[in-house]
Amino acid sequence: MSHDRPRTEAALVSACLLGKECTYKATHNGDGALERHLAAEGIEAVPFCPEEHGGLGTPRPPADLTAAAEDVLDGKAEVRTHGGEDVTLAFARGAAGALEVCQRLGLKRAFLKERSPSCGCASTHVAGAVVEGPGVTAALLRRHGVECIGVEGRRA
Ligand code: SF4
Repeated sequence: MSHDRPRTEAALVSACLLGKECTYKATHNGDGALERHLAAEGIEAVPFCPEEHGGLGTPRPPADLTAAAEDVLDGKAEVRTHGGEDVTLAFARGAAGALEVCQRLGLKRAFLKERSPSCGCASTHVAGAVVEGPGVTAALLRRHGVECIGVEGRRA
């Protein structure tokens, strides 16, 4: 019976999806459908915001990758604010922090906010457009075998 299922799994979750006001605009992307899904599956959410962890304040200027996240991880591309500031190191620190939490807690899955330059899974922001491909954190987690599940955010 489902209510007897032990809470044996935990997963990393973009903190903004859980209601934390940590987006670049200091808003949140609280997602009721995700919270119900996690509760039904008995998954404990471990909230994490890569951009705050990386040292970027909230609010903060919006930022885009200059090319695919894989290239950012390999040092061949950057992350820049719309004003042109290079924030690559902060994004890399945020991604490394997410990976460290997953490895320390043994998390195999991450539920991450779609389209974010950090958390996007199917799509992200590159050079002023939303394109297919992960953000920096999702790309790093996937490299290390963490399954990344994109979540739309702000669903009832
Ligand atoms: S999408 Fe990721 S980096 Fe952006 S606010 Fe949410 S948790 Fe933080």
